[in-house]
Amino acid sequence: MSEGIQFIQEELKDLKEKLKKLEDAELITCVPSMVRIHITKTAHKNLAICWIFPNDYPNSPIVTELKSKVFSTKLLDGLTKMCDAEAKKHIGRQQIILIAKFVDQFLEENPLCVCSDEISYIKNKLITEKDEFKLKQKNSQVIMKLSQDNYYFTVKCSIPLGYHSEQMKVEITSHNFPEIFLRNFLGQANEIARRHVTPPLRKRPKDPPFEPSPSLKPVADFLIRDCIRRLPGERCPCCGKRGLPKDPQNIITDEHHDMFAERVYCGHIYHHKCLDVYMKTPPFEGGKKCPACGKRIYHEKWGATPQIAEQRWAHKEAKKRELDEVVDFLDS
Ligand SMILES: [Zn+2]
Ligand SMILES: [Zn+2]
Repeated sequence: MSEGIQFIQEELKDLKEKLKKLEDAELITCVPSMVRIHITKTAHKNLAICWIFPNDYPNSPIVTELKSKVFSTKLLDGLTKMCDAEAKKHIGRQQIILIAKFVDQFLEENPLCVCSDEISYIKNKLITEKDEFKLKQKNSQVIMKLSQDNYYFTVKCSIPLGYHSEQMKVEITSHNFPEIFLRNFLGQANEIARRHVTPPLRKRPKDPPFEPSPSLKPVADFLIRDCIRRLPGERCPCCGKRGLPKDPQNIITDEHHDMFAERVYCGHIYHHKCLDVYMKTPPFEGGKKCPACGKRIYHEKWGATPQIAEQRWAHKEAKKRELDEVVDFLDS
């Protein structure tokens, strides 16, 4: 038997023992022509590692191949390169167990690898030079300071261990928007995250069975495209003037002030007075619709049903007519 074959057989024998110490690893194939193990951390964090011994093993690095249904090709390619570099460090020794440990440790220390695709999307498509983007692998958090014109907010997305079956948590740690906007951003962002992991309450018969899906990308799309990029310059659909002041220091905090900025469910910004007049003016049929996008306006301050709104309006008009009649009477 050649020295090389003897070395490999010894390594395979040792591997069976040594691999037992790696809790999440399972030995699938262990023959001189190929070794294959599976590492399973969670349903969405798992991969297979295959090794082929080169002819002059262990005097040249072992060939590693990674396969996974959950990780992106980009991540697997990057990790494969790291495995090759690792193998080079251990020429002349048993390399398999060392690479298995290296991959296992990588998965432990980089919890954000479960959303590497989503992270690339955000970095390439959503973030600009004015924004800050940080990955905190240690805390499994994605932190973004998003800026547009004079406005900003810092958002912290915590990716749980069981992502994407478990719900991601969204927090806003600093900002200069009106408080009411912040509640709105957070409420909607966390609702998007929730809908990706929780089946809908009312299931329609034709819906496919519910499967949890990743929510970092849709949440980032909402917070970046629909909030930070759009709102600082947004104009009131009723009067066409800026909804928010150019300088955030001039934000109006009195919610009964005519120019107080109201954000409705579709995302458009109205001045309090403009929205108040619009909501109380007919037609009320089918609910009031946003002139900018055609969606129904839902707002807690104007929660009246079309019938009540109609009655209120009729009542006000009647009063006005009475007053007009009085004026007419005085004039004559
Ligand atoms: Zn207005
Ligand atoms: Zn709208």
